Amino acid sequence: MIPKFFRVIFSLYFCLLFVLPAKSRGEENWSSLEVPPFIIFYAENDKAFADETSSLLKIFYEELSTKIGLELNDTVQAFLCPSEKSFNELTDNLIPDWGEGVADPVHKVIILKSPSQMDDQNHFPKLVKHELVHILIGHSAGNPRDLPKWFNEGIASYLSADERVSSGEAISKALLSDSIIPLDEIDGVLRFERTKAALAYEESYSFTDYLVQSYGFENMVYLIQELQTEKTFAHAFRDIYGIDLFEAEIAWYQYMEKKYRWHFLLDFKNYLWISILILFIVVVLVIKLRNRHTLKKWDEEERWVKS
Ligand SMILES: [Zn+2]
Repeated sequence: MIPKFFRVIFSLYFCLLFVLPAKSRGEENWSSLEVPPFIIFYAENDKAFADETSSLLKIFYEELSTKIGLELNDTVQAFLCPSEKSFNELTDNLIPDWGEGVADPVHKVIILKSPSQMDDQNHFPKLVKHELVHILIGHSAGNPRDLPKWFNEGIASYLSADERVSSGEAISKALLSDSIIPLDEIDGVLRFERTKAALAYEESYSFTDYLVQSYGFENMVYLIQELQTEKTFAHAFRDIYGIDLFEAEIAWYQYMEKKYRWHFLLDFKNYLWISILILFIVVVLVIKLRNRHTLKKWDEEERWVKS
């Protein structure tokens, strides 16, 4: 089995506003399970996963609505896609290969890959929670088109406690190569390749975490509430935090420098390469010393013979 740290497959997911074809359910023969306010559509083979999805949605909805004070006033449809083909069909081929789920808060639709299609089935509950956060926040926002991608992804990853984006591993490497993505460029995450997308998700999580650590979770909840008005995101942000988004981004950058600059040293695979390099240098030095010693010995023996 390939050790976890050698896996380069990131299976992230994202929120997609206004583009999902709610019109189409693809060619799949869907069964359905109604657990208000959710309806789960699934293929017959996925019945057990559909039961699990319904329980997860109910539990997470109760938890999140209490935590962030948002409620659903309409039915949410959740599709459990039994194949890559049906996932691509329902999402109109708009999701890169690293995506595992998508949420459309306007049409109140969640489209998920069935756990049988995931790289890591254990991650399924967090995927469900992540997409539900998108639905709750996007559904209640007064101006959903204005929500920055870093905020959508950051808050969804934060509230689902996604350990895959909280390690800071990609950020640490990006700090070394001076390739941190400015927050406003994260809006283009759908066009990013896998590694850059992983960095974008880590940054989104990190900035959200930074805001919570610095200003408290209650202010994050106030911001979410404030977004229910017609205010722009930048305006609501300034009203809640008392600073501009740009100023906060600069302060976060300094926080990242302190927190993650040497973080890559904690990564075992980096230690492995450093250890191999040190071992190689030691071996070269030992061989050189031994050769020098042998030459010296020969030299002395030669002088002994001559004298
Ligand atoms: Zn997302």
